[in-house]
Amino acid sequence: MSDGRALARAYLEQQRLLGTDAVMMPAAALDVRLPAPSTPGLRPGSGEAPPLTTGEVSLTPGASPGNPEIQSRVGDLPATGLSFDPPAQDLFSSDPVQRATTLAHIAELVSSCTKCRLCEARTNTVPGEGAEHARLVVGDGHRNTEDETGRPFVGKAGELLTKILSAIGLAREQVYICNVVKCRPPENRTPQYDEIAACVPYLFRQIELLAPGVILAMGNTAAQTILNTKQSLGALRSKVHRFRGIPVIVTYHPAALLRNPNWKKPTWDDVRIAHRLLDG
Ligand code: SF4
Repeated sequence: MSDGRALARAYLEQQRLLGTDAVMMPAAALDVRLPAPSTPGLRPGSGEAPPLTTGEVSLTPGASPGNPEIQSRVGDLPATGLSFDPPAQDLFSSDPVQRATTLAHIAELVSSCTKCRLCEARTNTVPGEGAEHARLVVGDGHRNTEDETGRPFVGKAGELLTKILSAIGLAREQVYICNVVKCRPPENRTPQYDEIAACVPYLFRQIELLAPGVILAMGNTAAQTILNTKQSLGALRSKVHRFRGIPVIVTYHPAALLRNPNWKKPTWDDVRIAHRLLDG
């Protein structure tokens, strides 16, 4: 089979699996430099070089465009999951969150927000941080250190997240990291429904401004909020969901991994799927 026909077949299979018109071109088609035959495979948390699979196809070390050793991996993508499509920005709205045009503007609004009871005990708001043109967004609840520093995902859980990202070749600075609610709930409890409802417009507007390639929802709160569902994290894992068309991958929160190391392997699997879905 010619390379052109193989690529077309891979594309059609990908369309079928994703149920979308998104196209992820194979690395070979983009003329990506392939790793040398001696390049080691990527291991979770190793911080090593990017994996042998740099695009949507698995590339045998040393293969090149036109080489029959190129093997399609699109069949490995998980099944299509939920799709949540809340209304996007209303240009005529007088709501300042809707009218915010930058992430800094949203952070400013968050800093003086008193829309829910969580404002009462906060030391600092935690609006989120990262690259303006991030390719990945993660989010979930809070810990004490976040309240003290005003930064998301700090402490041991944050260090673990940084390692997970570096294992897929992403520096923390290349992603945008944010929480579902922007103030820490007392005793680090799970945010309540009305608190999430009050705060979620900030998150949705942040995602709208960022337009990331993939959303990695870490933990129950992030996953259930972004997908507008009560399904458990276990039920939501291993599927490609959609938020306003953006692929959403659900996985465990780094803090949960610290409590249960058995979840590291499934988390690694999830993060690799997110990596493969990243555009560009
Ligand atoms: S949690 Fe969100 S909605 Fe509640 S006070 Fe903080 S910023 Fe406002």
